[in-house]
Amino acid sequence: MDLTITVLVYSSLAAAAAALGAAPLLVRERLPIALIGWSNALAAGLMLGAAYALLLVALEPGSGPGAGGALLGIGFVYWTRAASRTTELELNRLEEMSPDYGYKILLVNTVHSSAEGVAIGAAMAVNLPFGVLVALAIAAHNVPEGTVLCAVLTSRGVRLSDAVGLAVVTNVTQVLLAVVTFAIVVAEPSVLPWALGVAAGALVFLVLFELLPECYRQAGPRSIAMVTIVAMGIVVLLSEQGI
Ligand SMILES: [Zn+2]
Repeated sequence: MDLTITVLVYSSLAAAAAALGAAPLLVRERLPIALIGWSNALAAGLMLGAAYALLLVALEPGSGPGAGGALLGIGFVYWTRAASRTTELELNRLEEMSPDYGYKILLVNTVHSSAEGVAIGAAMAVNLPFGVLVALAIAAHNVPEGTVLCAVLTSRGVRLSDAVGLAVVTNVTQVLLAVVTFAIVVAEPSVLPWALGVAAGALVFLVLFELLPECYRQAGPRSIAMVTIVAMGIVVLLSEQGI
């Protein structure tokens, strides 16, 4: 199979995995707030594991491009959040009815998934097994993230089927950025450590800025730390096998 098609298929599967996150809402209409916290912690840990694996490869040719890319990645996420005036936005407010809250949440998720697209595209350009590993880590990460987004949207009165659709649609930028990043890096291989650095920096920043802060309040620091570390450890161990 042509490698660009492979990138398209894996990034699309990762995007679609967000739909699986709706499963707990089929059982219970209102999820306990601790479950939202653990879902975020699981998403955070899987993302940290992917960022670790990306950074290791990014720093191989020397620390300059990887570190420079990481700074760019952090700057990109921070700037897009500042420009869209969502820096202070609380992401998990259930029953938040203000009209623009839903749009802002979807916008934040779209920016967030762009960074994940860069991660999948750059990893696929390293080699196929590494790309598949990062795509699977992001796919697994998208499931609990889909749970949180669907819980927030349905608590605002959005139908579950529509919430599932929106959770997948916010990940379309993931597919787009994966294919574009892959094409750029294949055309100009010297950009690869930069792209890997951008992805790693953006992912770590998203974990610290978006995913972790709210979940400490939702489920308590001990369980959040445990879930995050175990999820991260699993991806790190798998990446050690694969690289
Ligand atoms: Zn995500």
